[in-house]
Amino acid sequence: LLAHKSAIVTGSTSGIGLGIARAFAAQGADVMLNGLGQADEIEFTRAELQREYGVKVRFHGADMRRPDQIRDMAALAATAFGQVDIVVNNAGIQHVAPVEAFPQERWDAVLAINLTAAFVLVQAVVPGMKARRFGRILNVASAHGLTASPFKSAYVAAKHGLVGLTRCVAVELAEFGITANTLCPGYVKTPLVERQIADQARAHGIAPEAVVRDVMLVHQARKEFVRVEELAALAVFLASDAASSMTATAIPMDGGWTQH
Ligand code: NAD
Repeated sequence: LLAHKSAIVTGSTSGIGLGIARAFAAQGADVMLNGLGQADEIEFTRAELQREYGVKVRFHGADMRRPDQIRDMAALAATAFGQVDIVVNNAGIQHVAPVEAFPQERWDAVLAINLTAAFVLVQAVVPGMKARRFGRILNVASAHGLTASPFKSAYVAAKHGLVGLTRCVAVELAEFGITANTLCPGYVKTPLVERQIADQARAHGIAPEAVVRDVMLVHQARKEFVRVEELAALAVFLASDAASSMTATAIPMDGGWTQH
């Protein structure tokens, strides 16, 4: 579905981003990986994807708190692949604390990585997309882009902001063949969520098993974590020609959490 396309997927050394990068490569797209991690493990993943799917796979370690590095990554992708057709703003971090005790430094980091980085990358790739009259912008927000939970002030603010940014660029760029959509997953069992189980247990003063049952999946009617592969399939569809008229949406994939 994505032959002759190229994509940048931020935060693709782990979890949802890696699943989306893999699915794009499997559909024939060249992919720029990005994220933090051990250099040898990242190189292993990069080489494995390239070998398995026969596409170009590159890596750029841009720190999403650094606009200059984000712009450098976009420039490298354009050089390596000839163009950038698809961007997935997926990198994200979480911090869980009561609002009155929320460290300002953590607020700034959550906003920078989960929201400002997306703005910077969109700004960098849009001129090329406009010139070619094709582009796909996929922003990974969260159910927390549509609703709130306690102790996540920065994350909920950033993800609501990302939904807003997506809607704005969607209407601004619609006539140029560029779509922009937000994916709003419920809980997915990735390293980000594994770390949160312990943090949430502390914040709520309950046991880790109770966090999964009574906090994370309490509103998720299906009572199961969303799978990375389901989100990756949605991303492939949104990036494909079949989704040309689908823009400015914020799509929940949350086992019946936000829409009931
Ligand atoms: P993860 O922790 O497994 O992966 C996060 C990725 O972001 C990693 O590749 C990491 O290296 C990268 N990253 C973090 N800080 C970075 C920085 N400063 N610069 C560059 N890269 C950085 O998390 P995940 O669960 O796969 O989350 C991916 C996205 O999905 C996030 O935006 C998250 O908010 C969102 N999300 C996750 C869930 C869930 O339940 N896991 C639910 C809804 C939304």
